[in-house]
Amino acid sequence: MFPILWRVGLQSAAYLLLAILPLGIAYFGTTDEGRGFWIEFGVGLGMVAFALLAMQFITTARFRWVVPYVGSDAVIYFHRQAGILVLLIFLAHPLILFAADPAYLAYLDPRVNFLRAVFLIAATIAMLLVVLLPLGGLRFGLSYEWWRLTHGLLAAAVLVVGLAHSLMVGHYVSGLAVQVAWVVATLIAIGLLIHARVVKPLRMRRKPYRVARVIPERGDVSVLVLEPDGHDGMTFAAGQYAWLTLSETPFSLQQHPFSMFSSSKVRERIEFAIKEAGDFTSTIKDVRPGTRAFLEGPYGAFRIDPRAEAAVLVVGGIGATPALSMLRTARDLGDRRPFVLIYGNVRREDIAFRDELETLTNELDLKVVHVLSEPEPEWTGESGSITKEILDRHLAPLADRDVQYFVCGPPPMMDLVEHALLARGVPHWRLLSERFDFI
Ligand SMILES: Cc1cc2nc3c(=O)[nH]c(=O)nc-3n(C[C@H](O)[C@H](O)[C@H](O)COP(=O)(O)OP(=O)(O)OC[C@H]3O[C@@H](n4cnc5c(N)ncnc54)[C@H](O)[C@@H]3O)c2cc1C
Repeated sequence: MFPILWRVGLQSAAYLLLAILPLGIAYFGTTDEGRGFWIEFGVGLGMVAFALLAMQFITTARFRWVVPYVGSDAVIYFHRQAGILVLLIFLAHPLILFAADPAYLAYLDPRVNFLRAVFLIAATIAMLLVVLLPLGGLRFGLSYEWWRLTHGLLAAAVLVVGLAHSLMVGHYVSGLAVQVAWVVATLIAIGLLIHARVVKPLRMRRKPYRVARVIPERGDVSVLVLEPDGHDGMTFAAGQYAWLTLSETPFSLQQHPFSMFSSSKVRERIEFAIKEAGDFTSTIKDVRPGTRAFLEGPYGAFRIDPRAEAAVLVVGGIGATPALSMLRTARDLGDRRPFVLIYGNVRREDIAFRDELETLTNELDLKVVHVLSEPEPEWTGESGSITKEILDRHLAPLADRDVQYFVCGPPPMMDLVEHALLARGVPHWRLLSERFDFI
């Protein structure tokens, strides 16, 4: 546990340091001109907003060295919260300057400098759009993919305007070394965007996959079986996910995240269990064998700790996918540890992978508890929501063990189960959640 905390602590400290680095450079680089506290404060906020905005590109660059410790959902959550902070600081920067000295209003006056005013006003509108639209879930008719691309490009445009503004204002950014540092920071941020959008697809192009077959499952689920085309396939840990592109080219904007469904011990094929949820997922059942596919990954911290003495998987609906991968892998490894799968579904006929789970109970030390929210009258198993009482009933035999808990399913179920597990005394660091709706 502690190495992970150390790494998260170090990454957080590095983040904070980079955020205030421009202030340090300014402090040591320039002499005080007696402009007064509020002006210096307002100017300082502008520099911090610039640094924080540049760092937003790190959290969306899908670096595996960030995600393994905290999970992709936590990284995206952080990106959103940091985005709000950047916007607040970004807006506070001019407002404080205008309040401290109204002469600064000239920056927005097109009669004084037309281009400067237009760019600053446009950057402010772009910044508001970049942060507020995702929070409000507004896409103005753009598909998710086009919206994501626009979000990145607008943020990059704001950064470039911010750079030009800092260089033109001068003062703290008048020395050559500081100017070079500012330009390099901007180039790194934009480089990260190019890395995600150009370099990664180029790498993926060297490792294509082919759809081998599509197998229908219960509950509007299709199992997509891919085979590596001319390479050894992907190494992943059971529970992780990858971004899937079904297209002749990895540069396609269509890229969706799916948890691996197959055993991580099988390299010659990789499977995804995909439930119909919208435009893309509804097409999976009709995908033809031979279709070209690309995978970016693996990602995610939802994986079994080899030191844990047992694993409890509490899942709902299609959230069972990573759990199935873990159980299939445990079978292939001959893992003798106890597993408990608590699996929520609406009705019995919706339970995907029911037959395979029955087989797995004979191959592993596995107990499967089905919980149905709308059971048929003849159902004698657990029913309703997955509550603390249900968990208490089935998890008591594991009381003295070092158990790792995994939660994946619809958001209301996950909230309920996470609270119930914590109320049972499960330590935070032994509870892992995978949210399919984090984006
Ligand atoms: C880590 C992770 C693992 C997942 N694993 C599985 C799995 O194993 N099986 C499964 O069936 N589903 C899984 N999902 C959910 C799956 O990614 C979405 O259901 C799918 O992307 C929806 O696309 P759509 O166009 O069919 O639906 P839409 O109706 O267009 O979208 C429904 C919602 O899905 C999200 N979404 C849409 N497009 C994208 C995209 N390109 N990238 C990310 N999110 C998008 C948006 O929040 C959107 O509001 C997983 C999601 C995540 C984040």
